[in-house]
Amino acid sequence: MSIPNRREILGTLGTLAAAGGWIGLTAEESAAQAPATPTPGGPKEYKLPPLPYPPDALEPHIDAQTMTLHHGKHHAAYVKGLNEAIAKLEAARQGGAGSSGLDSIREWTDSLAFNGSGHTLHTVFWENMKKGGGGEPKGAIGKQIAGDFGSFANFQAHFSTTAKKVQGSGWGIVAWEPLSGRLIVLGAEKHQNLTMFGCVPLLVLDVWEHAYYLKYQNNRGGYVDAFWNVINWDNVDSRLAAAMKLTA
Ligand code: MN
Repeated sequence: MSIPNRREILGTLGTLAAAGGWIGLTAEESAAQAPATPTPGGPKEYKLPPLPYPPDALEPHIDAQTMTLHHGKHHAAYVKGLNEAIAKLEAARQGGAGSSGLDSIREWTDSLAFNGSGHTLHTVFWENMKKGGGGEPKGAIGKQIAGDFGSFANFQAHFSTTAKKVQGSGWGIVAWEPLSGRLIVLGAEKHQNLTMFGCVPLLVLDVWEHAYYLKYQNNRGGYVDAFWNVINWDNVDSRLAAAMKLTA
């Protein structure tokens, strides 16, 4: 049996996102949307994926105005920034050694990490939620959580506390760790700091203030607690199945 490489797995995740029934797109609509992760030989430009549900679908837990701004302004800005970073690095390379172009490499490499991680995490985040979600996970993801954390309650407390305690802007992240084959919880700052390379995000929670301040103001804890009511565990389970085929 051939073992898929990382590019194939990420391509699969993108294909799942584009073709999966959970995002409610017809085949024609799916074909019109660029996958979140470009496939080899495919389009090089990153595109803002559509929200997989109307902006008010997650009410009352996450309000429509927040969703509209978060997706249409904030996520869109990361996509724009990522495309810009790629273009600027290309220009810097073409400037050649000794040109002023290479002096900008550090700046645009920083931008690549920030905006690229932001784009990836938001793309996962939208699909991790649905109207009428929540509850306890079943199937493979439920078993994996119970095995790796002892119980769903242990996992829930670990993840919620991590998300609530992120310093400043960041994310709570449940990721598949392929070296040992287990789930881990990360608390990322900004989008790209305090992460572990090789891990595949399965379930993510944005705790930047733009994700909750209109409705929850300074009560990040209330927002984190409400997140448990909108999780799309079928999406997390699909991501786990794809990620488990990955080798480090
Ligand atoms: Mn955000």
